Amino acid sequence: MKMDSMYQEIILDHYKHPHGKGLRDGDAEVHHVNPTCGDEITLRVRLDGSTVADISYDSQGCSISQASASVLNDLLVGKQVGEAQQVQEAFLELMQSKGQSEGDEELLEDAIAFAGVSKYPARVKCALLSWMAWKDATAQALAEAPVKESA
Ligand code: ZN
Repeated sequence: MKMDSMYQEIILDHYKHPHGKGLRDGDAEVHHVNPTCGDEITLRVRLDGSTVADISYDSQGCSISQASASVLNDLLVGKQVGEAQQVQEAFLELMQSKGQSEGDEELLEDAIAFAGVSKYPARVKCALLSWMAWKDATAQALAEAPVKESA
């Protein structure tokens, strides 16, 4: 229970003080909606070579979807695209764990706060909205300016 309330605090804090919110220049833009909850996000990705230079977004919806976008910005900006994709996959796995996984804190940092959300199928979509938007926008940005594989 104590763990849960600490996690709730992290989510609430990101909801009240979203990191990196607002639309800035990007290489690709996507708009995703979660009709079950009414969450919406417009998200732009800017790449600098193989680095995630910026993730900017404009969003509205429930606290989980909003907090998740803020955590996404925190975690992925500044990372190499490949590393960021690993974090995205780890978060997706956590959210699909139905409450069975605690998440890899080293990789997911604040995002492990969403572990409890994975028990509620209706809320999983809220938590994943921005992450799926990021995945799509990044795929688009890469298609336009392919990153060279560094072996
Ligand atoms: Zn929602």
